[in-house]
Amino acid sequence: NIGDVLVVKLVDELLPLKHEIGDALLRTSSNTRCVLLDGGVKGELRVRDLELIAGVGPSETKHRESGVVMMTDPAKVYYNPRLATERERVASLVKDGETIIDMFAGVAPFPLTICRHAHPKVVYAIDLNHDAVEYAKINAGLNHFDNIVPLEGDAREVIKDLPDADRVIMNLPQIAQDFLPDALSKTKVGGTVHMHKILERAEIEKFCKGLIDDMGKRGLHCEISELKELKTYSPSASVYVIDLKRR
Ligand code: SAM
Repeated sequence: NIGDVLVVKLVDELLPLKHEIGDALLRTSSNTRCVLLDGGVKGELRVRDLELIAGVGPSETKHRESGVVMMTDPAKVYYNPRLATERERVASLVKDGETIIDMFAGVAPFPLTICRHAHPKVVYAIDLNHDAVEYAKINAGLNHFDNIVPLEGDAREVIKDLPDADRVIMNLPQIAQDFLPDALSKTKVGGTVHMHKILERAEIEKFCKGLIDDMGKRGLHCEISELKELKTYSPSASVYVIDLKRR
């Protein structure tokens, strides 16, 4: 569930029964207003292709997570409620007065959780998706955080004008490594980059070694301070979080 909106995936054989399944889910879940069928995440903005199969719209909803409240619309912006524990982990590492950059912030769940549980100086929340940035502004206001700064644009460009950071968050697991030189260039020595990455389990070691070597050649020396599996992506691959400490 995202707020009172339930997003479901169905195997192809069940698609002819989608309305019956949606109605049954609606009847058995008291806090669900509508059921949306997930046709997959598409394009650069990672937006889901959704179809209303039961209940009433709109798809915009209010979601609560880790003591913060968030407006979001699964039909317009990417938001993954399953990352709540990871957001709390990152928040628990934040020291007072940190400058933080979230390069792919969406509606700002990482910045909001961090500001709820820690005391950063400022958290820049960048996203390419205009709707996500508008929700990030609304959500900063709803939770009364005036140190979240939503910024619209390509993270690679926007980050150039920001001050050096103690922490950079990179939640774009398909292609995060393409942005790593930009992220590390903005990270203070001793600072941390939290990078999410989809990897074949058999290739983790090779990928990490290649990454560190490649960054070293660019003068961006770093070491892995944490490597953790976040969730299964396919039978042979998972989403990992790789924490890189700049040296
Ligand atoms: N961190 C958010 C969360 O946990 O819900 C959203 C992460 S989502 C996987 C990735 C986000 O990156 C999307 O909102 C997408 O619009 C944004 N994005 C993709 N390419 C981008 C780029 N070049 N610069 C800034 N944002 C980008």
